[in-house]
Amino acid sequence: MKLALIGFGQAGGKVVDEFLAFDDAIDGGFVESAIAINSATTDLKGLDRVSVENRVLIGQARVKGHGVGADNELGAEIAEANIDELQGAIDRIPVHEIDAFLVVAGMGGGTGSGGAPVLAKHLQRVYTQPVYGLGILPGTDEGGIYTLNAARSFRTFVDQVDNLLVFDNDAWRSAGESVEGGYDRINREIVERFGLLFAAGEVREGDHVAESVVDSSEIINTLSNSGVSTVGYASETVEIDDGLLSSLTDDDEFDEGAATNRLTSLVRKATLGRLTLPCDVASADRGLVVASGPPSYLNRKGVERGRQWLEDETGSMEIRGGDYPITVRDEVGTVVLLSGVTDVPRIDQLQEVAIEAQETTADVQATADEDFASLMDTGDELDALF
Ligand code: GDP
Repeated sequence: MKLALIGFGQAGGKVVDEFLAFDDAIDGGFVESAIAINSATTDLKGLDRVSVENRVLIGQARVKGHGVGADNELGAEIAEANIDELQGAIDRIPVHEIDAFLVVAGMGGGTGSGGAPVLAKHLQRVYTQPVYGLGILPGTDEGGIYTLNAARSFRTFVDQVDNLLVFDNDAWRSAGESVEGGYDRINREIVERFGLLFAAGEVREGDHVAESVVDSSEIINTLSNSGVSTVGYASETVEIDDGLLSSLTDDDEFDEGAATNRLTSLVRKATLGRLTLPCDVASADRGLVVASGPPSYLNRKGVERGRQWLEDETGSMEIRGGDYPITVRDEVGTVVLLSGVTDVPRIDQLQEVAIEAQETTADVQATADEDFASLMDTGDELDALF
């Protein structure tokens, strides 16, 4: 399907940049437009692929291009105050060409955390296309303010979008990695999963016609129940020989059974492995299975078996499935989208820690005010200048 991607804040911009690279690499054509919005000049300068005219600096009057310093209330205020600038950038999107908006932001910071829900609300008011959010949760080691920001933004964002797709940095960090190197790797993981999902509904003229191709309406229907979604992915490297099957050809015979079994087990691995937001799979309301890879490795039976397995696993009757052929990749993979998940321990934990952080902040502030009052208390013996 065709998306207008809007990255809000630093994480949002970097992930949108990476989506553009991925779209190119798979020759996907699912990104119709890409915009990056920020209150910090340096973050916008650091992007590689988003065109310069689509990098929008907001809040100059308030923060002079220096960012909001993890203050997401200020991030939200600036977005509200600059809604005309944002609309100016959106006006450059050929909106009649897109199937949906995807607003991407890190929930723990300030600009994206506060601004993304404001933008989503605005888009919902003006356009008929669905507005999806891609919210990135902070690592648990980032500290109280990031957790508090994320919990408040999450709560707000989920109400302003048609569906909030979530990626949890905490579940994806690796020990011994630098923060920057870590984000680069994580961002590639993000765009591979969500990129393959959204690219699936985008079949262009001249593309290899899949056995049972996924249509953008199937993605939209899977996401139409609002709430929160998570994505799983599993893949296997295969050999391609000019787009033709080679590793599976014993005596030049295509082993249909092996291809079916591979896809079925990839669906299980994707579902039971690490999800973008870990959760109890049984709590999902709807699902979508997409098998991607060289056309000769995809078969209807494998997807169908995987789909049926997911029905049993989730107890949902609304599990869709289909193919997305990619000739340029030597990987067979399955993306599993689980929509409307409700049993998510990480969200419960995020909210608990945030409530604690909110109470502690209020206590500290009250004590600080009292302490300051007592520090300055000189009775009537000292006169202020004015
Ligand atoms: P903003 O610019 O004020 O919106 O804030 P940032 O986007 O810099 O940071 C918000 C949160 O996003 C941080 O707390 C991190 O959890 C996360 N983050 C920052 N940069 C990246 C990135 O490149 N990739 C990912 N996955 N997360 C990031």
